[in-house]
Amino acid sequence: MVGKRIQRAREAESLSLRALAEIVGVSQTTISKYEKEDSTPDSTMLLKLSKALNVKTNFFFQTNEFILENKEYRKRTISNIELRSIESKILNFVEKRFEVESLFPNLPFNKFKVPALKTKQISKLKDVPLIADELREAWELGIDPISDLSNVLESNGIKVFMIDESADNNFDGLAAIVNDYHIIVISKNWPGDRQRFTLAHELGHLILEGRLCSKMDDEKASDRFAAAFLLPEKSLKNQLTARRKSIEIAELALIKEEFGVSMQAVFIRANQAGIIDYLYSNSLWKLFKKEGWDKKEPGEQYPSEKIHIFKQLVLRAVSEEYIEESKAAELLDMTVKKFLKYRMTGK
Ligand SMILES: [Zn+2]
Repeated sequence: MVGKRIQRAREAESLSLRALAEIVGVSQTTISKYEKEDSTPDSTMLLKLSKALNVKTNFFFQTNEFILENKEYRKRTISNIELRSIESKILNFVEKRFEVESLFPNLPFNKFKVPALKTKQISKLKDVPLIADELREAWELGIDPISDLSNVLESNGIKVFMIDESADNNFDGLAAIVNDYHIIVISKNWPGDRQRFTLAHELGHLILEGRLCSKMDDEKASDRFAAAFLLPEKSLKNQLTARRKSIEIAELALIKEEFGVSMQAVFIRANQAGIIDYLYSNSLWKLFKKEGWDKKEPGEQYPSEKIHIFKQLVLRAVSEEYIEESKAAELLDMTVKKFLKYRMTGK
């Protein structure tokens, strides 16, 4: 067990065997032997390893083993080392989350279930929004903007995590199943509109599964779902009217601010909904590309998603005296002193 834990902590820190060996002053082979469980580090070495890997020594002795199953990466253009680092970090979060949840005797954590929707099968991309509308109806979301998407997902049994990955390594998001629970992971370092699109895209995969006819591209379908779920056709027509020859950039910015979708998603959606024609939508796309707005849109960036549930659970657990302050601090990755201040002030 200890060996696997060392490996996970090492990969989460993106350290090679050799780099870790150098930090703790042993040979690469020794670390490799620890990880393969051919030998066991003594307590002094465990202490060194825990310091090098930024974990408490008890991290090495935890026995619940969580596995990410049915992994679905959004735009997977990441190296294997990065991938292992990301997955190890995710597992560390997942483990803490399950640990905290298990403290509560009566907390209902629903598992995600696809609600019964009218449309069972679709054969054209343009019909995907039907399913998004039906899901909004089933989840009683109306046609208004969804201000807190993570919370909507959490309320429907999907656990949402955010990891701190540098934006240049291209990690956008991941959906997976852990212990029969659906999770979606997003990166902290993208603007909020992109995070929300990723969340809705991953949701799209879950909802569309089994509904698409075999010729359809499920990535495109999930994108279509995401845009329609975040910005229903009815709402968009309320904003823009049913038919337009052109749209001001500033109008795109206002809709972005209200609905939390990128300006690009707004005009693409406007074209899909028949509000503007393809030629005009394409001219906007060219303009965005020319101005570099396809990478960074003009104006204020949409604020990042906030994921509160884990902190709330830890605070509730300490408040109900299920755990000590030191444990709460450890779970939140804070010093005890910092936690005491945080507990009293929220900062
Ligand atoms: Zn996808």
